[in-house]
Amino acid sequence: MREQYEHETQYHVNIEYETRSHYDKITGIDLPKLLVFKCSVSDTLHIDLGERSYPIRFVADLPKALATAGLAPGGRKGSDVLLTDAVLQASQVALLDAVFAGVPRLVLPAGEKTKTLEFFGRVLDFLAAQGIARGGVLWVVGGGVMGDLGGFAAASYLRGISHVQIPTTLLAMVDSSIGGKTGVNLSAGKNLVGAFHHPRAVFICPQFLNTLPPREFAAGMAEVIKYGLLGDAALFAQLENHVLQPDSRDMLPIIRRCCELKAEIVQADERETAAVGGRALLNLGHTFGHAIEQATNFTAYLHGEAVAVGLAGAARLSARLGLLGPADVQRVDQVVKAHSLPARLRTPLPTAALMAAMQHDKKVRAGKLRFVVLPRLGEAATRDEVDPTLVEAVWRELGAT
Ligand code: NAD
Repeated sequence: MREQYEHETQYHVNIEYETRSHYDKITGIDLPKLLVFKCSVSDTLHIDLGERSYPIRFVADLPKALATAGLAPGGRKGSDVLLTDAVLQASQVALLDAVFAGVPRLVLPAGEKTKTLEFFGRVLDFLAAQGIARGGVLWVVGGGVMGDLGGFAAASYLRGISHVQIPTTLLAMVDSSIGGKTGVNLSAGKNLVGAFHHPRAVFICPQFLNTLPPREFAAGMAEVIKYGLLGDAALFAQLENHVLQPDSRDMLPIIRRCCELKAEIVQADERETAAVGGRALLNLGHTFGHAIEQATNFTAYLHGEAVAVGLAGAARLSARLGLLGPADVQRVDQVVKAHSLPARLRTPLPTAALMAAMQHDKKVRAGKLRFVVLPRLGEAATRDEVDPTLVEAVWRELGAT
């Protein structure tokens, strides 16, 4: 019975997965053929941005997928270099050695402290020392830190070379590796210098999640929950019904769904210039989240954890604006908590400090705070000119003093 159930579930996942892909026009093929077909073709989502278009490939076997795509890195001098961090170098050494044999490798310290101008300079120097020319490729294997740093180096070196993103955290798979935002932090604030520079391709291999620490996985789940809230009520309901784990059968289809949602938004508003809505919707929960990160000096919360509290804040603000009801707010809190994330501040922070930190957000326009709110669960909108007293009240609900 259990076996049959698993069998059917697998079929369901595969069919669901296929119908969402660009093979969905295939009809009239019996099930076994469809499954055989799926096994022989790696699934791809195309980001359509004219001459800056690129594929996101969802792969089970990274070396094979790179070879099939005709993109396997070579050891020829000046053609390819690899950028990764020390944690990945230790935890994924076999895979890195298999894929990048003979490719010069720059291994940098792991973590946000590496996303600086100093390390940006180190990557540029390494590219130059390896004689990388215009046709060279920078391979970036890592989470959002390596992705943002490497992407910015690729944008700047020789005024732009190609890079390929191989994201290894859940956050990077569903968010930072797609969309072309690259950059580093300044002491004045996060992501204050950077460039739009899209990768040549993104390869998403969920196998990397097997070594990701649970806390980092949970942090990535904040972005997954965000996508459900801002654009897919069915995804949100799915997360309510099943707590997602790295080895969940739904993992790959859900990562893919998040990428689709991000792709749709980025394609419509590549440089975040839309007057309302647009790419800014991806900041759901982030105005609150960034303020928490800043007020705690980026030490107490992972980015995703701060965003999780921010999602609870966005839901409460939406309720105070008459958009959501109390039951909706509770649903948001429950999904956040079920995925091992905080829905309130862990320790109280002063409301005044959080309000001041919000004023430093890059999204502030002419001194006015701009929020992403939820007209309903599964739909987001931007809202300017929000009364600050409402925001203060939300902070207090979240545990601020
Ligand atoms: P991260 O890159 O620091 O990775 C988190 C930790 O997990 C690191 O210690 C890393 O070494 C380790 N790690 C990564 N993959 C692993 C694996 N498979 N197994 C074991 N350990 C692994 O952090 P992150 O959460 O991936 O990214 C955060 C960064 O992303 C922030 O700097 C943020 O600003 C940026 N970001 C950028 C965008 C964008 O659009 N460019 C979007 C969202 C976030």
